Amino acid sequence: MAVRRISIFGATGSIGQSTIDLIRRNIEEYDVVALTGGRNIARLAEDARALRADMAVTAFPERLGELKEALSGSGVEAAAGESALLLAADRPADWIMSAIVGAAGLAPGLHALRHGTTLALANKESLVSAGPLLLETARKSGARILPVDSEHSAVFQALVGEDPAAVEKVIITASGGAFRDWPLEKLAHATLEQASSHPNWDMGQRITIDSASMFNKAMEVIETKEYFGFSPDQIEVLIHPQSLVHALVGFRDGAFMAHMGAPDMRHAIGYALHWPDRRELPVARLDLARVGNLEFKAPDQARYPALGLAYAVLRAGGLNGTVFNAAKERALDGFIDGRIKFTQMAQVVEQVLDRFQQQGGHINAAMTLDNLTQIDHLARIQSDRIMTELASA
Ligand code: NDP
Repeated sequence: MAVRRISIFGATGSIGQSTIDLIRRNIEEYDVVALTGGRNIARLAEDARALRADMAVTAFPERLGELKEALSGSGVEAAAGESALLLAADRPADWIMSAIVGAAGLAPGLHALRHGTTLALANKESLVSAGPLLLETARKSGARILPVDSEHSAVFQALVGEDPAAVEKVIITASGGAFRDWPLEKLAHATLEQASSHPNWDMGQRITIDSASMFNKAMEVIETKEYFGFSPDQIEVLIHPQSLVHALVGFRDGAFMAHMGAPDMRHAIGYALHWPDRRELPVARLDLARVGNLEFKAPDQARYPALGLAYAVLRAGGLNGTVFNAAKERALDGFIDGRIKFTQMAQVVEQVLDRFQQQGGHINAAMTLDNLTQIDHLARIQSDRIMTELASA
């Protein structure tokens, strides 16, 4: 078997660590080109040494000295900053994991795709903010994007050998997050600690809070449209508290293909790593007799206003996805910093989208990286203004 050159962007995070866990098990099959991280320098250096990476990059230039020190004598090259992330993405590789959190993951992903590298895409913000640009870049170079979000990996797997034109609808499931059973009137008082704990999945803090607010599922609705090209009317969300069925694809003959598995991201990561093969993975096997019951119910729009916003974004098109993503990221920062309440995150995003739509212009500009970057920047400024207004109201 030929050795595969791989890089992991966001190596120190939850998805990055799960990816490393899988790679370590068959390390002789891989040549690790680059690992990137942010502030967790100790983790980055330790993994770069253990995997004998050519290069380790921290996104933050002020941490370069620390990284160099941690890597001294290892032979691993140390680098820092946005430009170093792009240089790492330019290094020849066969497979790259895109698992930086937030919009910072977009530019390295685009660089990798321009070189024709297969991109395993966990960084959902890229697709939400710039789906058409990513797909067009991949089309031009012949690169492949493999979904890593568990719902999209599930849809991707259910579609193997199927005619996409025969699909009637796609259902992605949601656990309902930390507050699915809370009384509605209590939600405004949800604390950061309460929002940061997920009933079924063990994930990074930001995506865990997004699961509680359902912004995570809202982003996945947009991802489903961008990645597979289904219309908003074909995409449905169901609450499924057990998190065992990740998605279902309904076909025109009435059949549903459901994808099931334990809630462990190493399945979707492993599928993308070994695609098109299926290989043994260290994930728990389902014992359905023990599980007994699977429940499904429609999400309550009042509890999860983020979902309605996602469908509005899909119907409006243009650069609304970019605005949505930037406003969501800023609102989440605002909740984490204690500037706004849990329920105000959706208000911020809605008001930013409204203001951009009222202004017109920008929102209908062509989807280029320059336009995206500018809109993203403006949406963050607008979000900060709205958060200040909400805090002083
Ligand atoms: P984590 O917060 O656990 O990890 C994020 C990674 O990005 C870390 O390596 C972090 O470095 C790095 N990072 C943080 N800020 C920056 C920056 N400004 N520039 C470059 N790198 C940065 O996130 P997750 O692993 O949970 O999620 C990663 C992506 O995958 C997200 O887009 C998420 O939505 C998506 N995803 C995650 C799932 C999960 O189960 N966790 C499931 C499906 C999708 P450091 O920690 O060193 O500071």
